[in-house]
Amino acid sequence: MDNRIVSRLTDLLGEDRVLTKPEDLLVYGYDATPMMHETPGCVLFPDSTEQIGAILRLANAERIAVVTRGSGTGLSGGSIPVPHCIVVCTVRMDRILEIDRANLTARVQPGVLTAKLDEAAKACGLFYPPDPGSIKISTIGGNVANNSGGLRGLKYGVTRDYVMALEVVLASGDILRTGTACMKDVAGYNLKDLFVSSQGTLGVITEILLRLVPKPASKRTLLATFPSIQAAAETVSSIIAEPIVPCTLEFLDRMTISCVEDYAHIGLPLDCEALLLMETDGHPLVTEEEARAMERIAREHGALQVQIAKDDFEAERLASARRSASPALARVAPTTILEDATVPRNRLAEMVTFIQKTAEKYQIRIGTFGHMGDGNLHPTFLTDERNTDEIHRVEQGFAEIFEKAIALGGTITGEHGVGLAKKRFLPALIGQVGLNVHREVKRAFDPNMILNPGKIFD
Ligand SMILES: Cc1cc2nc3c(=O)[nH]c(=O)nc-3n(C[C@H](O)[C@H](O)[C@H](O)COP(=O)(O)OP(=O)(O)OC[C@H]3O[C@@H](n4cnc5c(N)ncnc54)[C@H](O)[C@@H]3O)c2cc1C
Repeated sequence: MDNRIVSRLTDLLGEDRVLTKPEDLLVYGYDATPMMHETPGCVLFPDSTEQIGAILRLANAERIAVVTRGSGTGLSGGSIPVPHCIVVCTVRMDRILEIDRANLTARVQPGVLTAKLDEAAKACGLFYPPDPGSIKISTIGGNVANNSGGLRGLKYGVTRDYVMALEVVLASGDILRTGTACMKDVAGYNLKDLFVSSQGTLGVITEILLRLVPKPASKRTLLATFPSIQAAAETVSSIIAEPIVPCTLEFLDRMTISCVEDYAHIGLPLDCEALLLMETDGHPLVTEEEARAMERIAREHGALQVQIAKDDFEAERLASARRSASPALARVAPTTILEDATVPRNRLAEMVTFIQKTAEKYQIRIGTFGHMGDGNLHPTFLTDERNTDEIHRVEQGFAEIFEKAIALGGTITGEHGVGLAKKRFLPALIGQVGLNVHREVKRAFDPNMILNPGKIFD
């Protein structure tokens, strides 16, 4: 990066907040998406909104691209740098500014780790429900920018459902405050929601007001195995039709179950095609009744085995079957590509069967797990990026899976975002008019196209 720019950035932030040496930049060239890397021009660690405002004013005047980065755990390449860009890393802005018990809100800086907020809320008898699998390492800013989901999405929704207000530094360096602490607020356009899942393309989020809810008094955890995916999918439909809204309804296919058992030694039965992890939370009388009803429904649909956790320790053991899915699959092959095709819930069995047939067709390995209650699946390709022939077949496979998801009324990403990894599939989902509107919105917020250019769409 130009010495003149580096020296101005150093004046703004101090030397220890500006990285420019190639060996220091290397690690910031990646996120958690495989097969993507780009070296940035420099990496900055601002600690205030005003500093970010000054950085963006300079970048906008000099037409330098800016890529915002939280922890870099994204799975769609959202925080992969563009060549010679400035990376603005928010990890030093990591303070929980306030937990307001009267209004049930938390005001946080973007670099707060999700788990840290979860712990702080619990310490006050409150609860922040969105719990991505990366909860211990991802930042709230990254969660908002990606609208991250988690295992409790079925009952509690996703990050968007908890964002009440945002402070955002715009490309011009101006500071926008949008949203309030009011439960009802219809003044003007809903600008706040535009930033949720915008993946750093519209502004840098510098402060977030989040809604909290009362901590549920109890939770019951069940694990059931099934002779077919169909039986597991029908169990999910019957539970929802009962009507019960569990906080968790997670699914693992045969390949994932065997990888998890190899990795975590939980004692999972291997003679099954599908596994469901089911959790209900709330008043103890209600959770007891719902747990019994879910057990009955699973058995009615031919469950091979149903276990109900007797205490928190056992609940943790059963839940670890799902929480271990991603690391367990990652051990099996040098490269794992974790996708998140999502379909309406009544098309789940069809989608999972299609994924398995695609694996057979292209002779590739795909383990599938995911949030069955939300229709959000994670087909995980187990491959080796050095094997170019196999990578080619993997790419054909996942293109067909996305086409199928769209054909079933679903989407190409339920929670990881489009980023770089899925941008070529976006036009088929949103159409030309949708794409034009995206471009106009981008132009309105960022006329010089400095913010995370080339992400989501070209
Ligand atoms: C093991 C593992 C499990 C995961 N499980 C889940 C899961 O269950 N559910 C789920 O949804 N995701 C999951 N993810 C994906 C990832 O953790 C989430 O997308 C997370 O929200 C990213 O947070 P981050 O701080 O790492 O953001 P980064 O990866 O650094 O950034 C993500 C995007 O947000 C933008 N961004 C970051 N901070 C800001 C900001 N302050 N202002 C504007 N833009 C910003 C970046 O430019 C980028 O486009 C998982 C990832 C891993 C590695």
